[in-house]
Amino acid sequence: MEEDCLFCKIVNGEISSDFLYENDTLVVFRDINPKAPVHLLIVPKKHIRSINDLTKDDEKIVSEIIMVAKDMAKKESVSESGYKLFFNVERGGGQIIFHLHLHLMGGWHQA
Ligand code: 5GP
Ligand code: ZN
Repeated sequence: MEEDCLFCKIVNGEISSDFLYENDTLVVFRDINPKAPVHLLIVPKKHIRSINDLTKDDEKIVSEIIMVAKDMAKKESVSESGYKLFFNVERGGGQIIFHLHLHLMGGWHQA
């Protein structure tokens, strides 16, 4: 838990948010300002600032984020039509919330 981190507050329930999925490692919720018909954020519970801060110990977290993204794409019916998965890394990479999260965007095209 990092003080003044918005996503830590969401993860801990300090700021209420509807989770589409939750397990011991991560939560999934909709982006508040969606830039695609389906725009989800897959967010580890552990505070990690960005991809740059990952360590060997975080390997399981990273693989879970990707596996859950795949499952969420199916649940949101965008698996067949296709979707984007991306991490913004630091300010120059467009990151504005400095708590690691994977964007899942899709739903522009019907399968
Ligand atoms: P970044 O640019 O850091 O990769 O993406 C941060 C994302 O978090 C943005 O797409 C933004 O719309 C989303 N976001 C910012 N504040 C909130 C919030 O309070 N709730 C939710 N659900 N999404 C947020
Ligand atoms: Zn955080």
